Amino acid sequence: MTAIVGVRYLISSGGFALATRLKHPGLYRGLEGQMRREIGWSLASAAIYGIPAGIVAWGWQAHGWTRIYSDWNALPLWYLPVSLFAYLLIHDTWFYWTHRWMHRPALFRLAHSVHHDSRPPTAWAAMSFHPLEAITGAVVIPALVFLIPIHVAMLGLVLALMTLMGVGNHMGWEMFPRALVHGPAGRWLITATHHERHHAAYRGNYGLYFRFWDKACGTDIGLGDFGGSLDAAHRRRKRAAAEG
Ligand SMILES: [Zn+2]
Ligand SMILES: [Zn+2]
Repeated sequence: MTAIVGVRYLISSGGFALATRLKHPGLYRGLEGQMRREIGWSLASAAIYGIPAGIVAWGWQAHGWTRIYSDWNALPLWYLPVSLFAYLLIHDTWFYWTHRWMHRPALFRLAHSVHHDSRPPTAWAAMSFHPLEAITGAVVIPALVFLIPIHVAMLGLVLALMTLMGVGNHMGWEMFPRALVHGPAGRWLITATHHERHHAAYRGNYGLYFRFWDKACGTDIGLGDFGGSLDAAHRRRKRAAAEG
């Protein structure tokens, strides 16, 4: 499982890093050292994520312990989107509160500063967490599959969305159309433009998928504009050119 999580990370982050290179050439120039650190922390996190995931896979296959089901007719079809939404909502709630907690000074210094050492984050930062933070992230979905029934395909979709948004929110540019990000959907959904502001301000915008908790708790600080990171990329480019 650790190998699967690690390979999934390398493929998804590598794919988005390549997309970044094609769409915004030079955006990551000068960040090579940081990206190496991001990859190191992310692979360590993959090892941690693999342990509860492995226990779940084994418990499901060998013992039928979990509430994962594979027969499409085991539960009504309307339950499929409901279960998907429930998983995303609960994960988002867990993430919001643990993330806010990680921003308390002692915990920030101990653990979460690793994630914020990425200035600005790149596509490789998706799993760049201190092991303590990786543990809080790794237990959520494995715990939920023991509590809330979910079709194995919906579980796959949850994991795919988790990966897509985890990488996409850190890559330094917005992949979704402006009409979505700045339209009605963007008022409730979190994309890179929202999470970039969290990394720029070191506070606020703590959510994962939805802006609900940030809005309800007054921590939503609005959308970013990538101004800082694009300017910084420009400065790094000039510096690199001057150094030959
Ligand atoms: Zn943070
Ligand atoms: Zn982040």
